[in-house]
Amino acid sequence: MKITRMSVYHVDLPLEYPYWLSGGRLKFETLDATLVKVETDAGLTGWGEGTPWGHTYVPAHGPGIRAGLQTMAPFILGLDPRRVLDVERAMDLALPGHLYAKSPVDMACWDIAGQAAGMTIADLLGGGSRTRRPIASSVGTKTAEETREVMARYRDRGYTAHSVKIGGDVDRDIERIRDVESHRPEGEIILYDVNRSWTRQQALRVMQATEDLRVMFEQPCETLDDIAAIRPLHRAPVSVDETLVTLQDAVRVAHDGLAEVFGIKLNRVGGLTKAARMRDVALSHGIDMFVMATGGSVLADTEALHLAATIPDANCHAVWACQDMLTVDIAGGRGPRNLDGHLHLPEAPGLGVAPDEDALGSPGAVYV
Ligand code: MG
Repeated sequence: MKITRMSVYHVDLPLEYPYWLSGGRLKFETLDATLVKVETDAGLTGWGEGTPWGHTYVPAHGPGIRAGLQTMAPFILGLDPRRVLDVERAMDLALPGHLYAKSPVDMACWDIAGQAAGMTIADLLGGGSRTRRPIASSVGTKTAEETREVMARYRDRGYTAHSVKIGGDVDRDIERIRDVESHRPEGEIILYDVNRSWTRQQALRVMQATEDLRVMFEQPCETLDDIAAIRPLHRAPVSVDETLVTLQDAVRVAHDGLAEVFGIKLNRVGGLTKAARMRDVALSHGIDMFVMATGGSVLADTEALHLAATIPDANCHAVWACQDMLTVDIAGGRGPRNLDGHLHLPEAPGLGVAPDEDALGSPGAVYV
């Protein structure tokens, strides 16, 4: 089987509510999504998606995905998409780094490989759990009162996992954490996501002041060096996501004991092929996981769900799904959707969901 054509679509995905990142990073209202349709001489078609969470969040850039695809296309065409390692090596040779530009191609290849085998991607990766996965909410408010209101709205829709964004004023962060914990129903998963915005001393002030609560903090500081430096000085469990980019990052975090949880972002780390290795590093070091797309449509959420399904139930805390935050749906309601705060693995071979091509407009580039 050979890849004969790659069509690249640029789609704007408007957010229902504008999003402000912490630390003075810019507000954004629309996600810049790239959808990739990979066609083969066997008549099978796979879909991939790369949607960074704006361009001010981490080094990933919507137009950069499309430029990267233009550079890599001559090295991808003609390869067998079922041989995902061949495709991975070809992309890494053609364009070192730029992992976020490679993930949509990797995703489309896994989609085709699954269809060719008559298996879901999760099963092709070795076996997918059918246990539904809780979806983590994203609570990005400022005051304790607003936080309570937003979490109540999510709970009404069945959510049992929450990512509460903190990392502003230190005293207000402590107040909000205490307030959220005082209303926390038994069994709920709550992660306090700092998105890198504390300095070392700010992180220590909050982590030490809330030590009695034993709550988990995600990405408290900018770098792994920062996280390592404060590690002996607090007792809080830590999750890392934004500084978990390469397999070498995963190995360092695992070996040096820098975190108890990996937040694996599929677009950030370069797709399923690379993310599956991080999963194995985590499992072999007693590290649990959250899995998420980074952003995007139901296609990106579904890719994350396939990886999450290959993690033992006890080690997979939740998935984060972006689809509920968007005002457009490129797949007409198909694919895994929020059912009582959970996603269920689709049973169709491959990814299990494809977009409405009419909703994508015409491709911005076609490589043959
Ligand atoms: Mg995070």
